[in-house]
Amino acid sequence: MHRKDTVGVGQRTPLERRGLDVLRDPILNRGTAFTLEERESYGLTGLLPPHVHTQADQAERFLLSFRKMSEPLDKFVALNALHDRNEDLFFQILCDHIDEMQPIVYTPIVGLACQKFGQIFQRPRGMFISIRDKGNIANVLRNWPYDPGIIVVTDGERILGLGDLGAHGMGIPVGKLSLYTACAGIHPRLCLPVTLDVGCNNEDVRNDPFYVGLRQPRVTSPAYDEFIDEFMTAVQEVFPGCVVQFEDFANHNAFRLLEKYRDRVPSFNDDIQGTAAVALAGIFSALRITGQPLNEQRVLFLGAGEAATGIADLIASAMVAQGMSLEAARRTCWLVDSKGLVVRTRRDLAHHKLNYAHEHAPIGDFLSAIKDIKPTAIIGVAAVGGTFTREIIEEMAKLNERPIIFALSNPTSQAECTAEQAYRFSKGRALFACGSPFDPVTLHGQTFVPRQGNNSYIFPGIGLGAIAAKTRVITDDMFMKSAHTLAQLVTESDLAQGSLYPALPRIREVSAKIAAATATSAKDSGLAGRLAQQEMLKDIEAQMYDPGARK
Ligand code: NAD
Repeated sequence: MHRKDTVGVGQRTPLERRGLDVLRDPILNRGTAFTLEERESYGLTGLLPPHVHTQADQAERFLLSFRKMSEPLDKFVALNALHDRNEDLFFQILCDHIDEMQPIVYTPIVGLACQKFGQIFQRPRGMFISIRDKGNIANVLRNWPYDPGIIVVTDGERILGLGDLGAHGMGIPVGKLSLYTACAGIHPRLCLPVTLDVGCNNEDVRNDPFYVGLRQPRVTSPAYDEFIDEFMTAVQEVFPGCVVQFEDFANHNAFRLLEKYRDRVPSFNDDIQGTAAVALAGIFSALRITGQPLNEQRVLFLGAGEAATGIADLIASAMVAQGMSLEAARRTCWLVDSKGLVVRTRRDLAHHKLNYAHEHAPIGDFLSAIKDIKPTAIIGVAAVGGTFTREIIEEMAKLNERPIIFALSNPTSQAECTAEQAYRFSKGRALFACGSPFDPVTLHGQTFVPRQGNNSYIFPGIGLGAIAAKTRVITDDMFMKSAHTLAQLVTESDLAQGSLYPALPRIREVSAKIAAATATSAKDSGLAGRLAQQEMLKDIEAQMYDPGARK
């Protein structure tokens, strides 16, 4: 008997697959967990050893060898290979052990995996669309066998804090979409990672014998802009309504592309907007501890790029929502870039810094800026490791009873300080969040549990809500609501141990609530293309992919 798969989520036509084709399709394959009935119906009898294992048995077997590995990159490769073999099992393990697995499939280890991408390459995942495909992108997209609900796209020019890795940046969209599925239950068939290969300006990467991308310098505008425009148009032609998340584009393109497409396509830039929402949520949590109002904060950023200006914009919007004028709200946020404090008199400022170029005398270094501006919070997003020195942390602790110190740069090597340094140098008073994970710190008998201000608290829920509501565009209001939703989910016992975010194992609950807030925002603004349900949260939860559901 041939078994027909019904038209599943994201599937164009009913599939008729049998035998090895089933075992080789990671979305269908369950390996030794196929029941005897399934083996009969898919023509698998004899192609698998006779004992039927449960998915829990398979997970245990995987974890047994996985946990013996000492090298994080080996762990990445093992997880990646599992992803290529059996998606249900991969996602079940990700969901059940999110604390352990997220740092491998995403930051910080994904950074290393991108640097070694050519060496560890086994099977392609997602789509590589190169400048050679210009003029033919719609046809190339039609090679993808499913109808995606969300694309994560990068051009690889600014991968984490690691710079231009060209096509080797593909690890990021792949890792990120794994989190969309694990954290928010977006079905794997709805997720499409895309790398737009326009060349690479990093000669070391280009000269790597295992480099998988085009070995040429980056194409620049106008050809670059035409290529991106063709891609964005083709996506909406081939996959109407598909959400596009921009990822790890360099500054000079990221802001421009976001502004160009955000009102035309359901799109967002996670580096700018997702980061902003997660950082704002962390500040809301910190203020629950200090009891101070938001509009009395002064925030000094180390870094003046996508993360810094994205966070500053959302902080300013939150202050405006509490009655401040936009001008006054912006004046509470200050940026320090590689040339010093961003001030009005500087002539070298990129457009995205201008809103925060205040009247002030020039200051060359961060410590002097702290002494002068007296911030209540410092946020490190410059991707330069070790820049929150002992002196800086001590100065913040001198100025504030509970200084807010967020060291958000990734990967770990670029973190501004460790959790241990933040707590020790502030004598346990820092309200700390980090970009990369740090272990709990015990100081004078008190244990602090630092949590990552990880965008994965925000973007999966935004994506799920946007797909569920079929929103026409993705608005700032959705990010603001997400920040509030996330902060509300932090418990008193989280705060008591210094955690400014909920525990990661609650991530599916967090994502469902953020998705409901996003879909409600779409409905309230008249942007929802799909009739929103009365019981938004229940409706959203019912749509979430459960990797353990197939028995
Ligand atoms: P970006 O390239 O847009 O910005 C970096 C900024 O740092 C630029 O403005 C640059 O001028 C400035 N800079 C460089 N060297 C400096 C120095 N010595 N002193 C002061 N400023 C300096 O990058 P981005 O997207 O803003 O990301 C920055 C970092 O934040 C990365 O490490 C990234 O991984 C991290 N990040 C973390 C999170 C998170 O934890 N949730 C989210 C987003 C980004």
